[in-house]
Formats: sequence, structure tokens, C-alpha cells
Amino acid sequence: MGKHIITVTGEMPPQDLGVTSMHDHVFVGVGNALQEGGYIDQYAAPILEHFGGELPFEPGEISLRNLRALYAGAFIPEPSYWDWTDPDIAREELELYREAGGDCIVSVSTKAMSRKAGEMRRLSDETGVKIVAATGLYAHEVWPPEYFEMSVDDMTAFILGEVENGLDGTDVKPGIIKAAANVLDDPTLRALTACARAQAETGLAMMVHNGLEFSPDDSWEMLGILVEAGADPERLIWGHSQNLAGNRDLAGILRDPDSFTIDIEFLARVADEGVTICVDTFGMVTNMELVGFIEQPEIQQAIIVAKMMQAGYGDRVVVGHDASWKLCASRYAGTGFTRVPGWLLPNLRAAGYPDDQVDLVAAGNPARLLSV
Ligand SMILES: [Zn+2]
Repeated sequence: MGKHIITVTGEMPPQDLGVTSMHDHVFVGVGNALQEGGYIDQYAAPILEHFGGELPFEPGEISLRNLRALYAGAFIPEPSYWDWTDPDIAREELELYREAGGDCIVSVSTKAMSRKAGEMRRLSDETGVKIVAATGLYAHEVWPPEYFEMSVDDMTAFILGEVENGLDGTDVKPGIIKAAANVLDDPTLRALTACARAQAETGLAMMVHNGLEFSPDDSWEMLGILVEAGADPERLIWGHSQNLAGNRDLAGILRDPDSFTIDIEFLARVADEGVTICVDTFGMVTNMELVGFIEQPEIQQAIIVAKMMQAGYGDRVVVGHDASWKLCASRYAGTGFTRVPGWLLPNLRAAGYPDDQVDLVAAGNPARLLSV
């Protein structure tokens, strides 16, 4: 293990880390960027069609009258629903996380995602929750126009500059790198290469967002690209791994219910390369069925964690919530950052997994990864 972990309030010893949500966001705001890029219109088309051309409620409304529709994806056409940038909500969620038994949040928002490093430092001081901030580059759907002009060298220099100088005009240092792909096109390849080079240069761990539509083959290809560019597999964290475990074809499952499996074969193959698997939408309330995406229910996510532990990969699993839009907030009936400390970990213990194994997933693996 390395010497220290870099949090928004400074360096800390790895053994003091405690229960850690490895993939979350204290702040994210991508609604405006997605709208400017034309993505909201694109995602919204089938939803508006479903509702006969217009949402049957006021834009921005969150009430018992429209909550089910929002969970199903009706939030997508309205950028304000994408907003997870309210400091009052962030403070509430951090306090609820602390009460549920959480100690540290890894907030993998990049600069273009409204990261708010200074606000995170203030909230960490106020709530006592440790926060690790990220540098890196998210997928190009949220990029400002100038990012598309950047070469691999420019992007690498941008990330290394944030590591060296701090984030968002503060001296808050990043403790992790974020890389992401929703498609493996040219701009994405430049960004992945730059993130991999910065990982090799700094030794920081890197959280990798696997596109929600990625097949295991796509995911394996991305791993190859990152490793080829110099990333150390031992420092990689495979985000959204729950979508790479087993059968997601709802029609096929309904036609042949016995075909339903939760299969960790691909995840074990990734872990055999040294990569850590991240199961990371515990408590996610949205299922986005109106756009054909079904979030893996958290019981299935818990089964993936249990299967990995039983197959001898307990040292290669971490967990999180990926709280990243307004409906995740407790004040809107979401569960914020609470389901890992408040539901998953107690249920693993109640099922008889020994404390040292549960602690490895909750704290030991995060401490190993975040240490430099
Ligand atoms: Zn995320």
C-alpha cells in the first residue's frame, strides 16, 4: 500500500479511511452540456413520443403525481432534473451518509461536470465525511467545444496540470483519475489515452466508466486501449460492472425465464488482469425503461458482490451509488449515499460473511486503490 490518500482536505493515512463509496458524486451538473450538445433532444425524442409530444407535468416538477414517470426516464427532457449541484442537498446527503455509517465518498466528477472542488472541501470540513476528488476527462457528450481541439498531449498536460496545481482554481488536489467512454470513437480514444498516460505518470488510481450500452467485448476492448497506452491494470477500477454481469435482454428472459443468470465470468476475467470491479448503483431509483435501459436492481448487484467474494475475488471488488441527479436526493424520495453503509454491508454481515471480508470491500480495497 502507498503512503497516503489525497482527500479534498489534504493527505491522510490509508488505515484511517473507513467505509468508502468508491463511485459517487458530491456534485454533478451535466444537463446544460448535454442540452448544448443536442443529446437531451436525442434522448428525449422517444420519451416525448411516449407522452404524445409533451410531458404531462410542469418541467422541473417533482411530486408524488409524477415520480413514477420520472423514475421511468421522464426526467430526461428537462435539464434541471439532471442537476446534482445544490450545496444544501449535498450537505444533507453527506450527513445521512455519515449517520448510515459511511466515512468517505469518492466523487468522480471532472471539471466539465461541475465538480466544485472548493465546495467539497468546505462540506467535508463541515460534515466530517472524507471526500476524494477527481481529475481526468468524462465522455465527450459533456465536453465544452475546446476539448475537441485538444491532442492527446494537450489532454495529458491538462490532467497533469490539475494534479500539480489543484482543481477549479483552488489548491484542492485530486486523489483519483476519471476516464469514461460511451462509444469508442476518435475523441474518446484520445481522452482514454491521455487518462492512461496520466495514470502511469502519477500512479493515481483510475475510475473507468463503462458505457451503459457496453457489451463485455466493448469493455474488454477499452481495457486493452488503456493498458496499451500505459495504464497499470492494478490501478484501474471498472465502473458500472453490474451491467457486464449476465443477461440483460428482458424480452429474452421473459420468453425463457430459466435463461436468467447473474454471471460473473467476464468480471472474473477482468479481475484476473488485476483490475478492481466496481458495482456502483446501489439504491438508484431511476430505471429509464422509457429509453430501453433497465438499471440492475440492487439485489442483483448484491448478488454480484457475493459471487465475486465467494469466487475468491473479495480483494477485487468495491461498491458505490453513483448518485448523480436530482431524483437521488433523499428529499425527493431517493436514497443518496446511504444504501452501501445502510443496506449492503449490514446484509452481507447478516448473511454470515466475516467482518474482515466485508471490511475489505468497504474499506480495505478502497484504501489500497487510493493510496499513492
Ligand atoms: Zn458516476
